[in-house]
Amino acid sequence: LFRLLPFVGQLNGARGAFANMAPSVAVVNEFLRRDNKPFMSQGNRPYVGLENGIQFQNLSFSYPGHDRQVLDGVNLSLPKGTTLALVGSSGAGKSTMADLLPRFYDPTEGQILIDDRDVRDFDPPSLRRAMGIVSQDTFLFNDSVRNNIAYACNRATDDQIVEAAKRANAYEFIVNLPHGFETMIGDRGVMLSGGQRQRLAIARALLRDPEILILDEATSALDSVSERLVQQAIDELSRDRTTLVIAHRLSTVQNAHQIAVLDQGHVVEIGTHIELLNKGGLYAQLYSMQFSHQEHPVGL
Ligand code: ATP
Repeated sequence: LFRLLPFVGQLNGARGAFANMAPSVAVVNEFLRRDNKPFMSQGNRPYVGLENGIQFQNLSFSYPGHDRQVLDGVNLSLPKGTTLALVGSSGAGKSTMADLLPRFYDPTEGQILIDDRDVRDFDPPSLRRAMGIVSQDTFLFNDSVRNNIAYACNRATDDQIVEAAKRANAYEFIVNLPHGFETMIGDRGVMLSGGQRQRLAIARALLRDPEILILDEATSALDSVSERLVQQAIDELSRDRTTLVIAHRLSTVQNAHQIAVLDQGHVVEIGTHIELLNKGGLYAQLYSMQFSHQEHPVGL
């Protein structure tokens, strides 16, 4: 029995750690439960691919239990193979809008159509398989670089993993790590910089090759070299892919086919970078503010 005592101590520690995690686990469980979301209908049409594009039609949204309309009558169109960037000040509704596409929430009014069919008609797992989400808090595991890239794609070959790393501008730094692709990362291994983490997340998405990409650009400030490498990787990932970008830095949206400027849940301007600059409205204002505060970008 005495020999078991140290293990009992360890178990107690583990129990403490789980107890600390309990509030977060409860929040996630609550979010994933279906029985408390009677408004979330489940279609059974398998999603087989995009032909023409995605329409956001007259979308309005309030968070459950809140009266305030976070989105109010938004109309946007995202043709297949193009990039639509959402910009606007903090709280404008950009992330909320992106959360409606994979159905983390459903709109309170209006609809999202994929090739003229409401997203609610599709079987949710098949729809989500077609979507890749690269967000600022993409999770990296305490595991090797290789396994982190191949996460959710465990049949990937070494050649495919190397290819994804190269296209994401991550190969050079990976091969310079102590054990290359086998280097352990996370708090039990090598710590990576913000830019390196983002490029690994992009390599993971490139390997998965989703048809529809939702890109929630990181707000963390990167040095200019790292920013350029991340930007090239993002361009590679979104090229010819149907992409919705939540942009925090205006430098990253200049090549988007369309930029929609959101303000308090409304689309107030839409156009290309040049069109919006020439218009001299909110986008032009945000652009000049951001570039006059290069060291301290505004909350975009
Ligand atoms: P940022 O650039 O800061 O990420 P954003 O444009 O993406 O901002 P959202 O995150 O979509 O804005 O938030 C829009 C509004 O909805 C904000 O007023 C925010 O406080 C509110 N909001 C966001 N998430 C929730 C939530 N889970 N419950 C209630 N209100 C929320």
